[in-house]
Amino acid sequence: MLIFDNSYARLPDRFYTRMEPGRVAAPKLLRLNVPFARQLGLDPEWLASVEGVAMLAGAAMPEGAASIALVYAGHQFGHFSPQLGDGRALLVGEFTDPDGQRYDLHLKGSGRTPYSRGGDGRAAMGPVLREYVVSEAMAALGIPTTRTLAAVATGERVVREQILPGAVLARVAKSHIRVGTFEYFAARGDGEAVKALADYAIQRHDPAAANAAQPYRAFLDGVVARTADLIARWMAVGFIHGVMNTDNMSIAGETIDYGPCAFMDEYHPATVFSSIDHQGRYAYANQPRIAHWNMARLAQALAPLLGDDEDAAVASAQAAIDAFSGIFEDAYLARMRAKIGLATAQPDDASLIDGLLAAMANQKADFTLTFRHLAALLGDGPIPEGLEAWVPEWRKRLAAEGQVPSEIAARMDTVNPLYIPRNHLVEEALAAAEINGDLEPLDALLGAVTAPYAPQAHAARYAAPPLPHEIVEATFCGT
Ligand code: AMP
Ligand code: MG
Repeated sequence: MLIFDNSYARLPDRFYTRMEPGRVAAPKLLRLNVPFARQLGLDPEWLASVEGVAMLAGAAMPEGAASIALVYAGHQFGHFSPQLGDGRALLVGEFTDPDGQRYDLHLKGSGRTPYSRGGDGRAAMGPVLREYVVSEAMAALGIPTTRTLAAVATGERVVREQILPGAVLARVAKSHIRVGTFEYFAARGDGEAVKALADYAIQRHDPAAANAAQPYRAFLDGVVARTADLIARWMAVGFIHGVMNTDNMSIAGETIDYGPCAFMDEYHPATVFSSIDHQGRYAYANQPRIAHWNMARLAQALAPLLGDDEDAAVASAQAAIDAFSGIFEDAYLARMRAKIGLATAQPDDASLIDGLLAAMANQKADFTLTFRHLAALLGDGPIPEGLEAWVPEWRKRLAAEGQVPSEIAARMDTVNPLYIPRNHLVEEALAAAEINGDLEPLDALLGAVTAPYAPQAHAARYAAPPLPHEIVEATFCGT
């Protein structure tokens, strides 16, 4: 049994809509993330029981569940949508893990809500399993993210371009407050709600901010810092979120709403996977700029709380947003330095790293494997094509640090993953599950990407880039 305490449901009525459990044809557990359930202090046996699966499918709510759909707004591809919300999702409730951390249990694909607009409230099995694999891979890489507790088949058919099996994703997050949640109330001129939401967010995510001289500014600073750090972590593993709309940007600094996301194989800064991102707005290299822009939308929504008069508020908001680039650069450089084995910071590190990336782009080098190959090169191995000029410069820089090459290489292999959820492998696993009901490829892929650093026996194909005919050019929206 799960004991819920629903603090969000104690916020004013206009923050959400209460929902009755939906009807689900034939809920069947596809996968339960047992180690994660244990870590959360949840009982895997209960979760896998008829009662547990009914809850995970959104078909029955246990005593104490909140069962609410949250309202929010958001800038989608730069255009403001004044009302979005949980159109196919449900906040079941909040629980606390053994460390005292509060989490939301949230279902995606659980049916229509007042925020569904034209949608059917459903999710297809493919996108649900994609979120499962990618979110768990991100967690294993140490990147803040919502987690996947379970995937449940609904036994229903979902109509997209094709007819697909339906599923529900049970995810766990520090909260589901988005930049767009603040924007929703700010756009309606509901200052009281903006303040109530900010007070709630401070209490839940930035309790120290409550004691700061300017609590709302301290909260904004916290979100900016978390977001800048998060994006630096994405960049360091070649992750492309794909839909960085403000409604998909968590104020808890977690990666959220995995849709047409992917990890890059060949390095190119302009890489885009999302089939709906025609302008490349959310291309790999644009992500820091977009996150910065999203923070400006948050600052704008919070502005009335940031100063006694408009000038003071605008100046404070601006100062908070201006901090983004510095925090991002520092975090990014720290991660990239570690990726190439540097232990100290020097003024020309940024140009050394840019030089490597430029050479990688020229060679169409695999982003992930390049860093593993560099570690192997420390034993004076042959220099790969295109890096003839760069490697000696790098070796000179490393030599100046005077560390033992084998130790540097070992350290590099603890920050540079060998296994990422490569798109062609993800597609292969989803197809097997969707078409044949075969979850073995998914399990094998999960096994590789949830222990991403040390080589695993019989896992060579999970480390290998796609062959030319296996390359996936686009991923489709998770609807
Ligand atoms: P997303 O891009 O998946 O984060 O979704 C953007 C908005 O569309 C959110 O408000 C979702 O709740 C809503 N939405 C997406 N897919 C569906 C669907 N199948 N049915 C209803 N609403 C949806
Ligand atoms: Mg979303």
